[in-house]
Amino acid sequence: MDYSNKRGIDLHVHSTASDGTYSPEEILTLAKKLNLAAISITDHDTIDGSKEAIVSGIPPGIKFLTGVEISAAPPSSFSCSGSFHILGYSFRSDDPDLNQTLYTLQMARKNRNPGIIERLNNLGFDISIEEVLEFTGRGQTGRPHIARLMVEKGFVGSIDEAFDRYLGKGKPAYVDKYRIECAAAIEIIAGAGGIPVLAHPSLITIGNGRNFEDLIAGLKEMGIKGVEAYYPEHSKEQGSYYLKLAKKHKLLVTGGTDFHGSLKPDVNMGSGRGDFHVPYSLYEDLINQLRDFDETA
Ligand code: AMP
Ligand code: ZN
Ligand code: FE
Ligand code: FE
Repeated sequence: MDYSNKRGIDLHVHSTASDGTYSPEEILTLAKKLNLAAISITDHDTIDGSKEAIVSGIPPGIKFLTGVEISAAPPSSFSCSGSFHILGYSFRSDDPDLNQTLYTLQMARKNRNPGIIERLNNLGFDISIEEVLEFTGRGQTGRPHIARLMVEKGFVGSIDEAFDRYLGKGKPAYVDKYRIECAAAIEIIAGAGGIPVLAHPSLITIGNGRNFEDLIAGLKEMGIKGVEAYYPEHSKEQGSYYLKLAKKHKLLVTGGTDFHGSLKPDVNMGSGRGDFHVPYSLYEDLINQLRDFDETA
């Protein structure tokens, strides 16, 4: 398809406030250079990236949505594994409940990291929490920071290898962290005037003989408003399936690359692995739904 005349959007971008390697300001500069029409900074469990972007000034010609990606506990009846993440868009960033909840999640992350380092030490790796924090800078520390340091120290050949052998779920240095229930994550985003969306559905595996449509129906009852059907890792079939389900259940469709800068070097902002494109009309649909909320409020 020829997208040359159509400006795209990217509603899933990580900054240095979590485990991305571009600062919010650098993300805005890059978005401008790439001629993106709209972006959202969706850091893990923090909205500092979005706040900083707004303070630094949104370049003319780019639409900006406040964003967040909350790591949540899936509904227990689905026995899900994988990455169960709830994205939030266009919320009031000064909402006290949202900020308080994110603070609790940030503390849970902070408390988890020394446990991961201790496990790595027990496996014989010479790595300290101080080194990791120096590496992280001022943002939230995540496993990708630890993985990258392991690469730099020559313990593994790549970030993927660090996850596959040590840091991934079920691997010897894995430590679980506290997660907010997904119903609460959805409610808190909505309570702050935002739109809660299920992130990268293909990264969720469902057990208990249930299917993805049951999950979507359950989440809709909890207040989810959209599905991230456009995601670089989705196959054509997966993408079409999520679009079909979103339509059937009257949910918004969103999309983004999950850009992390050099921590995910193959994924580029706006274009993923090269041929990825998220249409601007999805941004318009989202904005229209926010307007409807305002009018009925
Ligand atoms: P954390 O926030 O510490 O739980 O780490 C989650 C981050 O790790 C997400 O940004 C994922 O993109 C990244 N991640 C998870 N699994 C892998 C993997 N197997 N290889 C590379 N990155 C991963
Ligand atoms: Zn990440
Ligand atoms: Fe995610
Ligand atoms: Fe993400």
